[in-house]
Order: sequence, then structure tokens, then C-alpha cells
Amino acid sequence: MSRYVGPSCRLCRREGIKLFLKGERCYTEKCAMEKRNYPPGQHVDTKSKFQEYGLRLREKQRVRRIYGLSEKQFRRFFAMSERKEGITGTNFLVFLERRIDNMVYRLGFATSRKEARQLVSHNHITVNGKKVSAPSYIVKAGDAIEVKHKDLPSVQNALESVVRRGLPSWIELDKENMKGIIKLLPTREDITMPIKEQLIVEYYSR
Ligand code: SF4
Repeated sequence: MSRYVGPSCRLCRREGIKLFLKGERCYTEKCAMEKRNYPPGQHVDTKSKFQEYGLRLREKQRVRRIYGLSEKQFRRFFAMSERKEGITGTNFLVFLERRIDNMVYRLGFATSRKEARQLVSHNHITVNGKKVSAPSYIVKAGDAIEVKHKDLPSVQNALESVVRRGLPSWIELDKENMKGIIKLLPTREDITMPIKEQLIVEYYSR
């Protein structure tokens, strides 16, 4: 499946939650979820006939859209999580959090994951001093993530708003030097978004 290129706010309305896909706008009253908090489309079906399947599908789509991945990429991460020891659903969420594009967003170098992905693929990010251009790169505990060109206005602006979003406890930010350290890998408790990962496991196990 190819990447979605339609309106981002439509995805939030479809999923019924704020996915924070448009940076600063998401925190203002211009957010479409503030004004039109109902699913898009003229003939809205609020009672799905396929409730069990529909619930799992929606949860899968919601998380896929939060992280901005195509179905193929999402499925690949799920397969990695299944191969790893432990609880598949937890492994899956932790893997998604450890992607470098997510880390760049979490550290406040970008206002959205989409913007973070661009920073990475345009070679503006290093990990332990080495250039990383693949947004799917997985970070490890102890890794140092740094913005290469400190004069990038988009990064400077994004860092202004990181305070509002809050920094997860498992990462440390040196705002002056535009550098972040992964102190520890996240646990399930550190991922506070309202996600029911068991539904995604069930969706892919059907
Ligand atoms: Fe979603 Fe952000 Fe659009 Fe609000 S402004 S609907 S949170 S993408």
C-alpha cells in the first residue's frame, strides 16, 4: 500500500482521536478535532456491522497513522516483534518508539513525525556521530542523537514547543547543543498514548 497523501486532519477525524500530524496547529483551536469531532464523509456509519473485526482494524490503523507508516512498513515491524522474545504487542510498541524518526520528534527537533522523517532522510541527523538517513533506523540505549546543522530554523522553532509536549523520562535533551541521549529503552508504561496493542496482535493473527 502506498503512502497516504490526503488531508492529515481527515485521518484524526476517521480515528476519533488527535494523532498530532500537523505540528503546532494540533495544539490550537484550528485543529479539526476541536471543530468537527465526527468521522469524515456524508454517510457516516457509526455502528459497524463487523464490530470485532472493525475494532481491531481501527486500532491497527490508528497506531499506523500515529507513526506515519505504510501498511508494508507497519507489518514488517510487527513481524520483527513476533520474532523477539517477550510479549509481541509490547515489543511492537517499543520498536515503533525506537525508530529514529520518532526519536527526533520526541526530542523536539521536529513538530511532527512527518517533519522528523524529512530531517532524517535529508541527512540532518547523526547517531553517535555517524550520519543516519533511514527513518526506520532503531536506536539503542546509550545512543546520542544530534542535529548536524545547528542553524536550521525549523529545528530551532520546533525546540521552542518541546516543553509543551513534554519529554519522555527515558531520554535526555541538551537543547543548547541539539543533542539527545537515550538513557534507557522505553517500557510499556513509558508509552502513554491510549493504545490497545492486543487488538493489533489479534488483527494480524486472524
Ligand atoms: Fe489531527 Fe493535528 Fe489536524 Fe488536529 S490539527 S485534526 S490533531 S492533524
